Amino acid sequence: MTRPVALVTGAARGIGLATARLFLDDGWRVAMVDRDAPALDAAAEGLEGALPVVCDVSDPVQVETMVAAVLASLGRIDALVNNAGVADFGPIAEHDFARWRAVMATNLDGVFLVSQACIPALKASRGAIVNIGSISGLRASTLRVAYGTSKAAVMHLTRQQAAELGEWGVRANCVCPGPVRTRLAMAVHSPEIVAAYHDAIPLNRYGSEAEIAQAIRFLCSDAASYITGQVLAADGGFEATGIGLPALRR
Ligand code: NDP
Repeated sequence: MTRPVALVTGAARGIGLATARLFLDDGWRVAMVDRDAPALDAAAEGLEGALPVVCDVSDPVQVETMVAAVLASLGRIDALVNNAGVADFGPIAEHDFARWRAVMATNLDGVFLVSQACIPALKASRGAIVNIGSISGLRASTLRVAYGTSKAAVMHLTRQQAAELGEWGVRANCVCPGPVRTRLAMAVHSPEIVAAYHDAIPLNRYGSEAEIAQAIRFLCSDAASYITGQVLAADGGFEATGIGLPALRR
């Protein structure tokens, strides 16, 4: 029971699974939370120290039950990674309210709900929260009215958490990934969007799940013990640039 515990949402695949693996490699125990039960069971199989828990993070009742189950099994929560997310790209005119709400329900409500349910355990451990934003929350772009707005809200929610929870030694930070070839991204990244990202990113490539996981792991670690309320873009330099990169490269 003395081994630290990370709770990672959206851990069945992609960035969440890479993050769970990194914590496990470091000797932590990990509550792997996802709504996709078959994918979650497959991902957790054979991972020593992993506890798969099926939960839709947008549902307050499921979240309460999930956090209670994690604490009953693992006894503590030292790091919370709010990573579960959905992406839905489309013009503003085609975002009806149901589409808007579906994105907000997971990307924003989910972060609020899981964090709130974990606060007593995080206060007890003087733990850390890392919320996953996006470069789409840092910079506006076409087709992302719900997705980009949800991620911008996550950045501010992170600052609210840092402001309020610091007095208990609980830190809250946000990692904003650049593009990574996960199922979520490749469902909405057309070949034109892929090419545009390559053009706009100084490192001229997509990131990997493991590269994002390293940033998350750092912010959860004691190495980041005086860092809270920050937004860290792990984005190959996307946020730092303006116009002209493709022209200058040639
Ligand atoms: P993946 O689709 O690979 O993994 C996300 C996982 O979260 C899926 O298993 C998904 O299940 C699950 N999930 C979604 N909604 C819920 C929910 N309500 N409750 C529980 N689990 C849920 O995505 P990524 O690894 O790419 O994304 C992880 C995070 O990184 C997201 O927040 C995303 O917005 C962010 N991000 C990703 C970028 C990228 O380019 N990949 C760029 C910037 C940010 P299901 O398949 O059923 O939806």
